Amino acid sequence: PPGLYIVATPIGNLSDLSPRAAATLAAADVIAVEDSRVTAKLLGHIGVRKPMLAYHDHNADRVRPELLARMRDGAVALVSDAGTPLISDPGYKLVRDAREAGIPVTTIPGPSAAVAALTLAGLPTDRFLFAGFLPAKGGARATAIAELAPIRATLVLYESGPRLAAALEALHQGLGDRPAAVVREISKKFEETATGSLAKLAARYAEAPPKGEIVIVVGPPGEAAAAGEADIDAALREAMTRLS
Ligand code: SAM
Repeated sequence: PPGLYIVATPIGNLSDLSPRAAATLAAADVIAVEDSRVTAKLLGHIGVRKPMLAYHDHNADRVRPELLARMRDGAVALVSDAGTPLISDPGYKLVRDAREAGIPVTTIPGPSAAVAALTLAGLPTDRFLFAGFLPAKGGARATAIAELAPIRATLVLYESGPRLAAALEALHQGLGDRPAAVVREISKKFEETATGSLAKLAARYAEAPPKGEIVIVVGPPGEAAAAGEADIDAALREAMTRLS
């Protein structure tokens, strides 16, 4: 049936593609893709040939009206290069506009590196904050980390190999020496999870920047930080009594 189908695709092993995802791609009239070469490989794996339309950060505003028009009488599938579309990937404006236009939107859920990394890290999962990619430049990165520091939740961040050591060191500076995990190459041949404090992990990866795709998971602020907040509350209360 016509509409927009958000289709999650593998982040590593192509066999992670769900049967419903494969069926949805096979039934689509057109597939909106980030990179047609990447999606062509996935379609080859399931023996499907489909028209593809590039939809990425640089052409999204121009292509969106055409995709919306095609959803009115056809099935449009949206995929990204890997994982769940819209998660540090294009798509939210397409969903927003489809909803505003009354076009049916459905999702075929599947892998996302953020959630997969959480399952591997051995850190609390009851509350987590997905922070996407940190800014590349030092100043902006420090500011972003300072904003994350008081949040009482496990933090999940995407990072690239060459920037990993600098990011871990900046996290150590801004958050203190919290427990953390570096999760690499999930569901690929060289999947690896390294756990330790931010300082230890920063030292480890400063020696040799790792290859591949990476998720950083950082534990929530510990007891000491919580006490710090209690101290601030007490100080505020005291200041208030002096003011009144
Ligand atoms: N939409 C994707 C998802 O749902 O996971 C994320 C897209 S984002 C542009 C790409 C980043 O996701 C990579 O730089 C890396 O941080 C992370 N990532 C993707 N695949 C991964 C994998 N197999 N192992 C570890 N991290 C991965």
